[in-house]
Formats: sequence, C-alpha cells, structure tokens
Amino acid sequence: MKQVLHRAPWLATGSYAPDLPALISNGAVLMANGIIQAVGPWPSLREKTAQVVEHEGCVLTPGLVNCHTHLELAWLASEAANHPMPPDQGSMTAWIRELLEKRGINPPLAVIMAAGRSTLDRMRDSGTILVADIGNAPASAAIGADHSTRVLFLHEMLGRDNPGLVPAGLACTPHAPYSTDPELIRTLKERARSAGQLFSIHVAESADEVQFLKAGTGPMRAFLMERGAWTPSNPVPGKGAISYLDQLQVLDDHTLCVHCVHLDKAELDLLARRQAKVCLCPGSNRYLGVGRAPVMEFLKRGLLPGLGTDSLASNVSLSLWDEMRTLRADWPELDPAVVFAMATSGGSQALGQADVYGLLAPGRTARFLAVPLPEMLVDGEILSYLTTAGANLRPQWVEG
Ligand SMILES: [Zn+2]
Repeated sequence: MKQVLHRAPWLATGSYAPDLPALISNGAVLMANGIIQAVGPWPSLREKTAQVVEHEGCVLTPGLVNCHTHLELAWLASEAANHPMPPDQGSMTAWIRELLEKRGINPPLAVIMAAGRSTLDRMRDSGTILVADIGNAPASAAIGADHSTRVLFLHEMLGRDNPGLVPAGLACTPHAPYSTDPELIRTLKERARSAGQLFSIHVAESADEVQFLKAGTGPMRAFLMERGAWTPSNPVPGKGAISYLDQLQVLDDHTLCVHCVHLDKAELDLLARRQAKVCLCPGSNRYLGVGRAPVMEFLKRGLLPGLGTDSLASNVSLSLWDEMRTLRADWPELDPAVVFAMATSGGSQALGQADVYGLLAPGRTARFLAVPLPEMLVDGEILSYLTTAGANLRPQWVEG
C-alpha cells in the first residue's frame, strides 16, 4: 500500500467538535488508497514509511460543501450581476415575479446546460467538492453528472405536481411550504424516507412567506392568487413554516431546511428537538434583502448549519469563500472556526455525507485543498483569514 504524507505549516480540519482541533500547526495528513489514514502534528507522523509532499506556505483544508444551489438558473448570471442589490429591499415576491418572467424566455436546453456546467467548473476551481443542486427539470440532473465535484441532484416539485410521473430513483424535493400542496410535501417526504434520500425544502426565507402562512395576507397572497396557485377557499396553516412542516410530520434528521431566516424561539427549539438540518444562504438573503438568519440561536441549540449559495439569480458568486465572508460581516461576533466548520463539516452533515466529506480526518476522502497564505500570518489569524479573504483565495486541489 503506497502511503503519502502531506505536510504543511497549518491544517484547518473543518472540525468544530472537541475530538479534533479546528487548527493544527506544523501538521501532516497521511493518505493511502484515496482515503485519509491519519491526521496530526508532524512530529507524531514523521516516522511513517511514506513519500513526503511539502506544502510550504499553505494551509491544508477539506474541500468545501455547498448545501444549496440551482445550476439550471446559472444562465441568469449576467442579469443578477447587473443588479447586485435590488433597491426594493425585502420584496421577495417582486424577485420571484421577475425570475418567472425571465425564465419565461426559455432559452435552448443547450444554453442552460452549458451555463450550468461552466458554473460548476468555477465552483470546483474555487474549492467546492460537494453540492446539493435543485432543478425543476429532470433533464437538469445531467448538468452535474460525472463531474469531479460531486453533485447531489434533487428534482423540485410544487403545487399539485404528480410525483408518479418522476423516474424512479430520482430524488425529489418540494419547493416551499407556501407553494406546495401539503399532500405533495408529505408524499415526497415518504418517498425520500423509503429511498434513504435527503429531503430539502426552502423554509421561512422571507417575512412575506411567514405572513402568508400565518394569516393568509400580504404580498405573497396577492402573488399566489395572481398565479392561480391559491384561492381564499384554500385554508392557510395559521402558523410559521417550521411549525407547519412539523404538523405535516416531515421534520427529521434527513430533512434539510434551507434559509430559516424567519423563525420564532419555539420553532428554533422544535428544529433542534427534531434534529433537522439547516442550510443558511447569507449571500442570497442579503441580495434579496430578506434579513439575516439567527445563526447564534442555532449554535446555542447545538445545531451547526451548513452553507449554501443559492443560485446566480439571487447571488453574484457561488464561492463558499465569499459566503463565509458575508456571514462574518453579518455576524462579527461569530468564531471564525465555526464559520469554517459550517462551510465544511456542517455542510457534509447537513447533506448526510459526513463519512466522506467535510473533514481532514481518518476515513474521509484524500481529495483536499492546499490554500496559499500571505506571509507572516500567525496561528490566531489563519481561520480568520480563510473566512474573510473571499475571492482573493487561490486554492489548489491535491489528490492524496
Ligand atoms: Zn433555492
């Protein structure tokens, strides 16, 4: 068995658990058969019979995990870049309206696929190893097939779509509590449960959504009526998004709640009790002006969220480095080690892939990143640099 020992001045392990330090100085990672065998300080591993590869001036990190995007919307990128911050802050419904109008253009499938594929290439080049990708068209599953970045594709359904028409084996997901028939939400959760698949749903993204779910009023009501997706004869849940999903009995440790911006304390407790997973999208939330997710409240309850970029229709970048930077700017009091863990191990846990991705730890993939650092950084500055440097970072893939 050929063993390779990768040595670097620092390892950022992706951990935020007591059994593995978040940062190891003068560290080494022992690889064999494409799997990490051991991780630790160099003196503890130097005796191993292995080829040594030096990564001078670098920090070694796990590949980053993006828990939520829509590659089939990548062709809308230039539009989003032209409007980085809409002036009508907080108008989620206005944004959806605009998105549907643009999607009505219906570009050729080849254009959608090519934009998705080159976007995925850029995500890989920025250091992303695993992505959960949501698409309305089953054909969009091909965008991420056979790519060096692993893509978990979820086919999104809404309204009263018929899951019976979906090819067996294709993982499905409901769009959101306000847009999807309760019976369809339940059916898709059952389908995911029996196949052992992840069940992901947009939840409590905007105040408009929660106002509609609780009271059946506001801009979301007007929008849904205009689309013929709701009439006053349909009841509304009369409660917040998480309470509603719990009533539908779809919250468990394989349910990924994406956004989670507008939750009350009882709903935060409920999420923690059900051990549901959380994905935060700080860049998209800022772009749409819907508010900041209560990240401190999740952490207080022992929930380590993952991070997602959402799509290029509501974000200017799909780089997790930028996402970490936005989160730190939103919450300066956050420990950089937690932010880095969210982009790595938090994400792999959220997607049910923690055995393979998200950590520099024994048993995980030997595909990882070497990130060059500016000179003169000391221990206390490494994680802070990684979580604030954004697009200035130039990670290199290493195949252990
Ligand atoms: Zn989304």
